[in-house]
Amino acid sequence: MDSHRRDFRPERIVLRRTAIVAIACVSMVYGARALAAQTVASAADPTSHDIRPGYGVTETRWLSDYLPALANTAGDTPIYLMRGDMEGGTLLLFGGTHGNEIAGVMAATLMVERGTVSQGTVIVIPHANNSAAQRNDGARHSGTPQWFELTTASGEARRFRYGSRLTAVGDQDPDPEVFVHPLGGEIAGSEARNLNRNHPGKANGTLTEQISYALFQLAAKESVDVVIDMHESSVTSRLAHMVVCHPRAMEVGAMAVLDLEMDGIALKQEVSQQEFRGLSHREFGDHTDALAFLVETPNPGQEDSIEEPDVVNDPEAPLSGRVHTHLRAVKAILDSYGFTVPADGKIEIGFPFSLDALKGSDLGTFLR
Ligand SMILES: [Zn+2]
Repeated sequence: MDSHRRDFRPERIVLRRTAIVAIACVSMVYGARALAAQTVASAADPTSHDIRPGYGVTETRWLSDYLPALANTAGDTPIYLMRGDMEGGTLLLFGGTHGNEIAGVMAATLMVERGTVSQGTVIVIPHANNSAAQRNDGARHSGTPQWFELTTASGEARRFRYGSRLTAVGDQDPDPEVFVHPLGGEIAGSEARNLNRNHPGKANGTLTEQISYALFQLAAKESVDVVIDMHESSVTSRLAHMVVCHPRAMEVGAMAVLDLEMDGIALKQEVSQQEFRGLSHREFGDHTDALAFLVETPNPGQEDSIEEPDVVNDPEAPLSGRVHTHLRAVKAILDSYGFTVPADGKIEIGFPFSLDALKGSDLGTFLR
């Protein structure tokens, strides 16, 4: 026994030493990997948001599925596919082109969480420019918050980001002196970071151009029939309460505006101007087969004369009312579109509550 022990001892010591060295090496490798992963995560992972897909969502993708160069950049963003049981047309619905225009973001979020599609396909992107959604850079209105909070029916306080209008400064090359759109027109250099001045984008361009390009790839690949881009403007802006339509979409837009008017929602209609390039309603209409629309609601957070805006509970323009306008406009556009296509081309969406119930409500009680 003793001799055995003696014989074995050195071996066991060697084994132990080997094991300790091996464990140390493994943990060093894993430690280094974890550190590398952390570094990558903080530098390049797209910002994530509290979005809880509901019964209507049949698949989740990333914008980078349509332009791989966007993977691991601040511009990547989740895409929610909602396929109905019946064949039909396809709607691309997005908010967050401008990250501070939160009614569009929340209308898209509510569609993902509670909406359903009975016919056709709806592709929803709540944060079209996820770089702009990272934080509020204060450039548009210093009195606006970084976050806003909505309380659900169960009493949970959910937090949502109040983002910026433009792609974050550090996410692409410094702004040029003058931004020249490839299709014409010269505007302020900072507009190089404005997603709604960069359409139809460029595959190897700036981050903003790449985000746009991926949206156009998506529209082509998924044979999108209708595009609706949800925005907000200042309360006193000419744009507030407006549907901007591509020339090909004017007829459907006019029917939708009439439908909304009968429901007590007054939206003005305007046609895309030929001379302004890079805007979604113009370029999706020109470069894809889709009918393109842009809807604007008034956001007190974009109004310079309001020093401390309440972006959720403003008595004149509460968030719930603005989200109601967006979703009612989407419904009206789809209904009008349905009159212009064969029965198997319609797009039908629904909610487990009347959209009118949103008016004057606590928006959070409609979320999950
Ligand atoms: Zn906007």
